[in-house]
Amino acid sequence: MALVRCPHHQLQGMVLVCSHIVKSVEDKTKIEKIISLDLVANDSIDPFESMESTAFYCLVCAKQYDFPTENSQKPESEYENVVGKMGEAICIKCFKETYNIE
Ligand SMILES: [Zn+2]
Ligand SMILES: [Zn+2]
Repeated sequence: MALVRCPHHQLQGMVLVCSHIVKSVEDKTKIEKIISLDLVANDSIDPFESMESTAFYCLVCAKQYDFPTENSQKPESEYENVVGKMGEAICIKCFKETYNIE
């Protein structure tokens, strides 16, 4: 997992989110519904490359980018596509604290 330097948590893992979630975490206001998208590797031989990663986005982005409006999975090959559309990475601890995710 790539790392990000957070002003609150020092060096932390990061999570891929849409710009609205970035703002909500900064403001400590929750977006009512956020959707998770698991990017699942299936054909990689490198164990570090095959780790599964999850992106989170809001309903506005689901509509705008034609993403599923419920939690879903996509093959990891879609990663570039997803990152290209909402490539914001934030501290995973800040995100989890705002959204009470464990
Ligand atoms: Zn959004
Ligand atoms: Zn943080």
